[in-house]
Amino acid sequence: MLIVKKFGGSSVADKERIFNVARRCIEDYKKGNDVVVVLSAMGKTTDHLIEMAADINPNASKREMDMLLATGEQTSVALMAMAMQSLDVPCVSLNAWQVAMHTSSKYGNARFKRIDSERIHNELDARKIVIVTGFQGINKYENITTLGRGGSDTTAVALAAALHADACEIYTDVEGVYTADPRIVPNAKKLKEITYDEMLELATLGAKVLHNRSVEMAKKYGVPLVVRSSLTDAEGTWVKEVVSMESMLVTGVALDKNAARIALIGLKNEPGIAFKIFALLAKKNINVDVILQSIGRDNTKDISFTVTRDDAKEAVEILKENQTALTADRIEMDDTVVKVSVVGAGMQTNAGVAAGMFEALYNANVNIRMIATSEIRVTVLINEADADRAMRAVHDHFLDN
Ligand code: ASP
Ligand code: MG
Repeated sequence: MLIVKKFGGSSVADKERIFNVARRCIEDYKKGNDVVVVLSAMGKTTDHLIEMAADINPNASKREMDMLLATGEQTSVALMAMAMQSLDVPCVSLNAWQVAMHTSSKYGNARFKRIDSERIHNELDARKIVIVTGFQGINKYENITTLGRGGSDTTAVALAAALHADACEIYTDVEGVYTADPRIVPNAKKLKEITYDEMLELATLGAKVLHNRSVEMAKKYGVPLVVRSSLTDAEGTWVKEVVSMESMLVTGVALDKNAARIALIGLKNEPGIAFKIFALLAKKNINVDVILQSIGRDNTKDISFTVTRDDAKEAVEILKENQTALTADRIEMDDTVVKVSVVGAGMQTNAGVAAGMFEALYNANVNIRMIATSEIRVTVLINEADADRAMRAVHDHFLDN
């Protein structure tokens, strides 16, 4: 078997943990498997590098930021190779350049284009454990790029796809994917399995276990993915195309705190207004999520929608610059809101999930401000102060049995 094993920053945070990871990899290697290890930067290294850069030059170029951030992963792989060498196991560390892992040119948020698998195959054929830097790539200008925060997951899945690995194992400091964040919902349960689509919704909605692009890629190439703990032997959660738990209507409840609501009030009730608003935002690459249009007084209408809190300020600025053209009386922004979503592939064929969610929120006395649905999720926008209570109420309604 060829196995790609990815370990996050907390799993390689210190000497003891590095040796723990080394031993886990060696165990698989000694069973005769080909083992490729992908590592993140140790502990909070990436955060510290970002702070150091900000201290030297808050307006540093993105090229130099990537040059700096890529060092974190290079430290991890070299130390891991040294640990394995001390245990007399043949191994080699490789960075993005040496593999080579080609990406688009966008610094700080690059996407994989092509991975050369020859070097890795040669090293595996020589019976070495191959230890590869996560998070980084190279672009056509022969510069280092990074994939965005949390991007090492995507490196692991991309390598698994390129190498036709039999499995891609993502090791982290939790035991898998849960029905909700256990810190908020203490009776949340670990899932045995989840579909790519459900996982993608959860990852996008702020469940931080997997980088959402890694899930996208796993789905596209059919990479069998498992999320499990680096500290225990617990089984973990499989992410795959179809799962067997037919009776499960709802798989998980997610909380997204990175939401802000923008409202344009008193718009003329005529064609083209929504188009103008969202075209302005699209031009600035600002993603819009939940959208609501309602009829106001005197033949006017209101349009409200959510964006991420990071984008909120810029969105309001661009809308205010165009306030007259948009015919808005007022433009308001509220960043004390959160999104709570229920996700489940089963709701495609079962009515009543939305009603069940609203009932649970009603019983918990939570006011719903906006609603959005897709084939496999129902999202409500609520006040931040209600977040934890809402999560528990919705989780208990669907998932506490
Ligand atoms: N070290 C990078 C980060 O902190 C990449 C990763 O951990 O996946 O974002
Ligand atoms: Mg991560």
